[in-house]
Amino acid sequence: MQPPLGSTVIPLVNKLRQVLTNVRDGDSELELPFVAFVGSQSSGKSSVLEALVGRDFLPRGSDICTRRPLRLQLVRTGEDAGEYEYGEFQHLPGRKFFDFAQIRAQIQAETEREAGENKRVSNKEICLRICSNRVLDMTLVDLPGMTKVSVGDQPPDVETQIRNMILSYIKQPCCLILAITPANSDLANSDALHIAGIADPDGNRTIGVITKLDIMDRGTDACNLLLGKTIPLRLGYIGVVNRCQEDIELNRGILDGLASEEAFFQSHPVYNGVADCCGIPQLAKKLNQIFVQYIFKMLPDLKSSIRSKLAFAAKEHSSYGHMPQEPDQGSLVLNILMNYSKAFVALVDGRNEERLTS
Ligand code: GDP
Ligand code: MG
Repeated sequence: MQPPLGSTVIPLVNKLRQVLTNVRDGDSELELPFVAFVGSQSSGKSSVLEALVGRDFLPRGSDICTRRPLRLQLVRTGEDAGEYEYGEFQHLPGRKFFDFAQIRAQIQAETEREAGENKRVSNKEICLRICSNRVLDMTLVDLPGMTKVSVGDQPPDVETQIRNMILSYIKQPCCLILAITPANSDLANSDALHIAGIADPDGNRTIGVITKLDIMDRGTDACNLLLGKTIPLRLGYIGVVNRCQEDIELNRGILDGLASEEAFFQSHPVYNGVADCCGIPQLAKKLNQIFVQYIFKMLPDLKSSIRSKLAFAAKEHSSYGHMPQEPDQGSLVLNILMNYSKAFVALVDGRNEERLTS
């Protein structure tokens, strides 16, 4: 069964998040990465996102379902929080949703409230936080799919609107792009790879995901695509099999879907040989690896930022002089200093390296 998303880096990321909260100051170099799901309509973006989270909660279907960006913040709760998993919307503060079917209904209702009932899109985000002890502290953004023709109440320039909306996310240097293409269409025509190539021409932040391997033309397979022989991609490709529309209508659960995916790959004569590139668990693993590499890359910047903050705080502290009558102010600064250095030492010492390589 799939390891929980991010299980190998959780201790490091939690610590890092604490440090970043103290030192960030709007510095874009010091943002933790988020993952954006990009592709043409019905390519399987929402299905992949759900499978990674391991929960059913998104509207999915053969028509346009995702009409507003959904910023999904995964928050790992401590072990003492037990098995409880719940969602909370930014627009409904304080209301906890324990029933994930109600989360889906709320996403639908909130989409319709902002973007009407007839297929219009809006760039106003829906922000949902899911708290669970099975996830990594990570942000995922599900985006409307790219289309060519306007339908329903969509304006004639809907294609450009959606494109610009997607670019506004994936141009950010801290965005990992999941470029999703269905296996039953030509990779050379992939909207996802095309737009990812504009935002990330060197391919340092783009992972290719090939969906629908189960419904390719008989006699064909995606082996060459997955091995990067058709269109090379620095971070490589992962092929997946999500639930089909019939499964969704029959309410087949996500774990059932993941088990069928595993069986599909194990029994397939070709994919058996490229197991590293196949399946949602491999995608989760790849995301983890990239996440860790990203964090290692940002450590030098983080270190110098903490150094300069320390120097600034020390200078400010000395300017207070001795103030025995106002101990609170002095001890506050000292506390901040202690917290910075403790967190930093914990970050760069060998213990974390052990965790990462174990
Ligand atoms: P999105 O528009 O990109 O978010 O796509 P969805 O996740 O909503 O999926 C669109 C449709 O394709 C749904 O009916 C899914 O059930 C179906 N689908 C997605 N991935 C796969 C897959 O790997 N295999 C099959 N057979 N159907 C899939
Ligand atoms: Mg979708």
